[in-house]
Amino acid sequence: MTQQTVKVKKNIVDEGIEAGLARLTPERIESVIQRVLNREAGARLKTYARTCVHCGLCSDACHHFVSMNRDPKLSPAGKVKRTIGVMMQKKGKVSKDFIREAAMVAYSECNLCKKCVLYCPFGIDVGYLMTLVRRICHLLGVVPRYMQDTAHSQSVHFNQMWINGDEWVDTLFWQEEEARDEAPDIRIPVDKEGSDIFYSVIGPEPKFRAQLIYQAAMIFEAAGSDWTMPGSPGWDNSDLCMFSGDNEMMGRNKRAHFEAAAKLRVKKIVMGECGHAFRSVYDVGNRWLGFKMPPIPVIHAVEFYHDLVCNGKIRILKKFAQPITLHDPCNIARGMGLYEKARELAHALCETVVEMTPNREHNICCNAGGGIINCGPPFKDKRVEANSVKAKQLFDAKAMGAEVVIAPCHNCHGGLEDIIHHYGVEMELKFFGDIIYEVMEKPE
Ligand code: SF4
Ligand code: SF4
Ligand code: SF4
Repeated sequence: MTQQTVKVKKNIVDEGIEAGLARLTPERIESVIQRVLNREAGARLKTYARTCVHCGLCSDACHHFVSMNRDPKLSPAGKVKRTIGVMMQKKGKVSKDFIREAAMVAYSECNLCKKCVLYCPFGIDVGYLMTLVRRICHLLGVVPRYMQDTAHSQSVHFNQMWINGDEWVDTLFWQEEEARDEAPDIRIPVDKEGSDIFYSVIGPEPKFRAQLIYQAAMIFEAAGSDWTMPGSPGWDNSDLCMFSGDNEMMGRNKRAHFEAAAKLRVKKIVMGECGHAFRSVYDVGNRWLGFKMPPIPVIHAVEFYHDLVCNGKIRILKKFAQPITLHDPCNIARGMGLYEKARELAHALCETVVEMTPNREHNICCNAGGGIINCGPPFKDKRVEANSVKAKQLFDAKAMGAEVVIAPCHNCHGGLEDIIHHYGVEMELKFFGDIIYEVMEKPE
């Protein structure tokens, strides 16, 4: 493996965290911690805390631990001990320096990827415990600046990219116009009531990857789908508030998304290729709102594309020739079990599929997830260095012939792109949508 020397900033200084710390008093710290421990967390926290026997069986599951010389501080149980464990032990009487350290652990040393749960004999969910630490940090106002900025944007615009209403609709028109050069009758139907499908995407898509909306339109058109996209807030299905610890705002984001779909009386929501957005709509945000399952059926792009391709609803002219490997995003693999469908889809689209090891629900996280990539430039070197094990996995797949990585998740793209560049892996990254668009029979 080609290793580059990284100068990791050992002492990361984050302006958002420091500004929040400056406002804190010992009383405020204690009362917020007590509130979360006693009124929000309750029995689940106590059960986990009392059950952990510090056996270390979860350690090897964590890419931070394995990549960083097996530092016990970075094992899942080590992270619990350094954060919520101390808060419980000291009943909230902890210092500002402790809160700084806890914020660093929760926001930059755990992706909430939930792989360690699979290896714990008691099913202790360290991701959940780190979420509680983030919740405390949010209530204390101690959140990394870049992440808080995306959360603020969701509070103002219900999208994470500060995109106002006009810009969003203009982007849809722009992509429709582009697509019409290729398929003159194509439309991106905005606010079409009674459609079968409500298509939602994440905020960065119109901002940085607008061509994905164009490609999706071509795929919907080729499949003869009855679909629409909302013209008003609720179009962004992502949720950085879920990661910052702002549960109240997370709930408002999810409500806006479901209400936009309900207003248009659609039959189902199809979401673009994003893992965390799916988790927020399918698992966390809906439950915060009181729905056991989403109030409108929700389908991730992998499942939707699987149906189109594997059931012959769109025609594949010629399979993708370059050998590919598949990255299983934690949120749709471990979180939803879509790994077999992702494989069937990959095999239906591509001539050669090389497996990374480990894979499926045991796959290694990209280290962007859980909002770590959204903590921005101050944390980038640390994030990349703490995932050399993923780089090794990619190098191994490359040695077996893989040239392209398919990652059906925006965050994974961001994380893998940084790993590929930093470690010199030299592989291409694609979404399933890119491949389908390339190999399908296009509408005329
Ligand atoms: S949830 Fe993922 S990143 Fe966090 S401790 Fe467990 S394995 Fe590590
Ligand atoms: S495997 Fe479970 S019990 Fe063992 S250290 Fe990890 S969290 Fe604790
Ligand atoms: S970004 Fe992708 S791999 Fe990383 S935690 Fe999210 S879903 Fe998992």
